[in-house]
Amino acid sequence: MATTHNLGFPRIGAKRELKFALESYWKGQSSRDELKALGAQLRQRHWDNQAALDLVPVGDFAFYDQVLDMSFTLGNLPERVRGFHGDALDNYFRVARGRSAEGTENQGACCGGVAAGEMTKWFDTNYHYIVPEFSAATEFSLDSSRLLDQLAQARSLGVKAKLVIIGPVTYLWLGKAKDDSDKLALLPRLLPVYAKLLDELAAQGVEWVQIDEPALVTELDAAWQQAFVAAYQALKQDKVKLLLATYFGQLLENLPLALALPVQGLHLDAINARAEAEQAVAKLPAGKILSLGVINGRNIWKSDLSAVLDWLEPVHRQLGNRLWVAPSCSLLHVPVDLDSEQKLDADIRSWLAFALQKLDELQLVAKALNQGRDAVAGALADNQAAIASRRASPRVHNPAVKAAIARLDAALGRRASPYTQRAPKQAALLRLPAYPTTTIGSFPQTGDIRQARSKFRSGELDEAGYKAAMQAEIARSVREQEALGLDVLVHGEAERNDMVEYFGEQLDGYAFSQFGWVQSYGSRCVKPPILFGDISRPQAMTVAWIKYAQSLTAKPMKGMLTGPVTILNWSFVRDDQPRSVSCHQLALAIREEVLDLEKAGVRVIQIDEAALREGLPLRKSQWNEYLGWAVESFRITANGVQDETQIHTHMCYSEFNDIIASIADMDADVITIETSRSDMELLDAFDDFKYPNEIGPGVYDIHSPNIPTQEHIVQLMKKASERIPAERLWVNPDCGLKTRAWEEVIPALTNMVAAAQALRAMR
Ligand code: GLN
Ligand code: ZN
Repeated sequence: MATTHNLGFPRIGAKRELKFALESYWKGQSSRDELKALGAQLRQRHWDNQAALDLVPVGDFAFYDQVLDMSFTLGNLPERVRGFHGDALDNYFRVARGRSAEGTENQGACCGGVAAGEMTKWFDTNYHYIVPEFSAATEFSLDSSRLLDQLAQARSLGVKAKLVIIGPVTYLWLGKAKDDSDKLALLPRLLPVYAKLLDELAAQGVEWVQIDEPALVTELDAAWQQAFVAAYQALKQDKVKLLLATYFGQLLENLPLALALPVQGLHLDAINARAEAEQAVAKLPAGKILSLGVINGRNIWKSDLSAVLDWLEPVHRQLGNRLWVAPSCSLLHVPVDLDSEQKLDADIRSWLAFALQKLDELQLVAKALNQGRDAVAGALADNQAAIASRRASPRVHNPAVKAAIARLDAALGRRASPYTQRAPKQAALLRLPAYPTTTIGSFPQTGDIRQARSKFRSGELDEAGYKAAMQAEIARSVREQEALGLDVLVHGEAERNDMVEYFGEQLDGYAFSQFGWVQSYGSRCVKPPILFGDISRPQAMTVAWIKYAQSLTAKPMKGMLTGPVTILNWSFVRDDQPRSVSCHQLALAIREEVLDLEKAGVRVIQIDEAALREGLPLRKSQWNEYLGWAVESFRITANGVQDETQIHTHMCYSEFNDIIASIADMDADVITIETSRSDMELLDAFDDFKYPNEIGPGVYDIHSPNIPTQEHIVQLMKKASERIPAERLWVNPDCGLKTRAWEEVIPALTNMVAAAQALRAMR
């Protein structure tokens, strides 16, 4: 018999109940007991949802983040929150977000909160975890209360529990030594705490513990590989069984290591590492369990269950009871329930599976393995019909788009002349001063804007009314920018709900869910659009708005677009063609928009690639392949314009040293980037690499309500001019201003413009 289990379940709730409960608690509008009760209720519901499985994850629930949970379990709290009042949950929120609930922070020495823990992306997902903090002095001590409480709750409900924790090596790998000491040196201090935890779990009668070690899918040097050996030797015991879980990729050189670790079971991601799963079957040490992740935990497509069974049946014959089946990774990364979707097109809906549907698929696979396909013949036939319908659907396949992709030619991605020849032509046309000022695109998304949009959606406001409301907002933005004295203006993006969704909604090949929320961090969720078919652009998407904005001013108006790589990386994408092909399709569609803007007389066009870096593969050895097609896609989009048209791009992440050559390769005339938070230190990248075109290093952090002073901006720009010739520098904020209020934006930009004037006067 094959055993079924799950690695983790989305905890935010099908209706985002956890989000709303957290935000209400933080605002002081509900009590800690109410929050805890909601947590217990969600866990119970989610265990009910998984009741058909042989083993159900317990310990995967977190109020904010599972890595932060592990830090508390290991007693690794940053010094700055020790000794605070309140219970552990308050301290937990302090580390997570700088403060606990309103009201709790005013009772003692700690009013005003503390610095929140740093957040970073969980492997190659869009989930962000709180980075564990270490120093050479870090000590660990066990606090098993969270796990034991959840276990007790599970027990009382009759849940067939498998405890889930993050493994010691990955835990260290995820963290950051604040004093630059060697994190690995902490392993000997960490292991006894894990050993004690396993003892306590054994004492509770726990049989299986899933110990997550996804660091095994990354490039590990000899010391880290050795750490795995040492850790699992130290944790070797026979009281609880360990299922070592890896996911998100191939193990490659780490596969033999993983197979040899003294644990009772190993989970492999058979979606991303199918060939390795087959090798593991052949090499599995006697007595060891092999868990195969056969249902994709990262996408929203139905699995081709007959194809899964075709390869899994022989594996099952070989392994028998030693085979477990599961989703490839925790279902944290997919929405909860397709049944909530009432508005999705019926065809498209029939091709999809969210978390609950993925568990049904898993159940079906296990039943077919254990009882034969005949036992699930009807369901298998339905599945096959859905797969066949998607494969053949004219909604998915557009011959004209496929033909355009077949005709792709490198010339599409090349400007007619190099930057050195384009720049003087652009300068002659735009007549900008030195240190030209601009912004990144969006202006405050006010309550009025959101209200107009929601009234338009509900039908309360007609199209003409909505258009007039948005035009009024655009006019306001233009007026304010003229008054501020900015040089290159933007229309402000009032009409855009989201920089990806806005374009997705106007492109053929995209669908949108109502409740397809996925946790991004803490209480924040995103609802990625679903790229299901060949992409085409039925009509111009932004031209009318930009033309309107341009009609209001004699200053140059920047056309504002989201680039193909960012649209791709923030969507659920197709699994029936390589990402590169979808990206090229997007590139051709956005290219048409660029050319239409140019035709409409727009002389400056910005193409945002905020998410270019996010798409980087986990392994550096695969970066070049990705960067190759990602940069090519941008170039296809941007580079069909005349020399006189100035192309800008914007990226809002900070670490670009290691991909600076690829960024230069995009050949945008101007790039604006985030640099202010590091005091321009990021520009160190330009010491070794001479960025050839113009650059706008962000001069203030738009995430903060603080107003930058003119002096500070001048000083930052001077620092920048040590690295980049002043005649190629722009002055702009770090990112778009849509999350700020006008009352913050006006003084900040006033100082920014004054700083640019001061810089000009100094020349
Ligand atoms: N143009 C977008 C804006 O200004 C860019 C946002 C981003 O980089 N994330 O909002
Ligand atoms: Zn940005």
